[in-house]
Amino acid sequence: MSKESIFSHTQKSFSEAMFLRFGKGRQHAAKLYSEWFRKGQMDDMAAWVEPQAVSLVNRMSEITDFSLPEMSRVKEEGRTAKFLLKFFDGLESESVLIPMEAGTTLCISSQVGCKMGCAFCETGKMGLIRHLTCEEIVAQVFWARCKLGREVRNIVFMGMGEPFDNYDAVMRAVAVLTDMRGLGFGPSRITISTSGKVDAILRMANEADPALNLAVSVNAPNDEIRNRIMPVNRQWNMAELKEAMLEYCKHPRREILVEYVLLKGINDSLGAADELAEYLCGLKVKVNLIPYNPQTRDRFAPPDEAQREAFLMRMRQRGYQTLLRKTTGQQIMAACGQLGNVGIRREMLKLKVPFDNISFNR
Ligand code: SF4
Repeated sequence: MSKESIFSHTQKSFSEAMFLRFGKGRQHAAKLYSEWFRKGQMDDMAAWVEPQAVSLVNRMSEITDFSLPEMSRVKEEGRTAKFLLKFFDGLESESVLIPMEAGTTLCISSQVGCKMGCAFCETGKMGLIRHLTCEEIVAQVFWARCKLGREVRNIVFMGMGEPFDNYDAVMRAVAVLTDMRGLGFGPSRITISTSGKVDAILRMANEADPALNLAVSVNAPNDEIRNRIMPVNRQWNMAELKEAMLEYCKHPRREILVEYVLLKGINDSLGAADELAEYLCGLKVKVNLIPYNPQTRDRFAPPDEAQREAFLMRMRQRGYQTLLRKTTGQQIMAACGQLGNVGIRREMLKLKVPFDNISFNR
């Protein structure tokens, strides 16, 4: 009988699975689950299991997979750290720990590679290799918190992959991460970022906890520019994207983080800022400006500092709460848009992984 990973379970589903298997022991399974996620290891069972239940809890442990993928590499630049987890098939995810004023943010991956093909993104150059499973997503958080010992305050799905292309596994992972009897992250501390998959934004609007955060990579002031840099726009244009965002924001607790990568000479003019401001009119949004980060083969350049500041000020003048993101981790290819580096692609070639074709058919 194959073992099921503890990282694919909430406490409730784990207790139910154990009850189905043994016909008893829901409460002991619940304790086992909480102990594991509280400590990150299983020791001193005698301290929390009644003597008569030790053998049952041992049997539960034997049929549960507690193993974690190995960490294959870690690179640090200041307090920013990028770590790679290697999975059973040799493929790797990339995760980044980013120190922020409010605490550490962990940026995690939802796929190896990505099929969305955004022109300014390193991961987009890889194509989609495969989706990550729920347990592979949760393992990134468990590693950061329980093995590296970092106090993770916020989690953002902004690493490799389009989270909404792997919707079910991502939402299952969110359920595991937010289980208060497990890892215990409040939904308001988790942000899912999409390139603009309208169908999934509408699905999230209907299904997800309103406290869960949504970020949308807009990155352009109009369809002409967005078509050039984000192929997803040829499937759902900016008008359709705005409709979906309006629908999403109907809930009073919801607002959207709009991400905008500034590309020199492409989308960074004051005219572009005005056009973006018009486009966002009527939406509950905060705007995050991200200067482009250099990559392996550059087609773009970051705007100079004066241009960034001018764009920032114009958005603020237009009434939008806007931040200019400080870039960290550029040297270790850990900054926004830089994940999916040459090392991973070299591994993929060794493994002869076929690249998925980019497909935007509805
Ligand atoms: S920006 Fe996000 S959605 Fe676009 S190619 Fe990169 S990982 Fe994929």
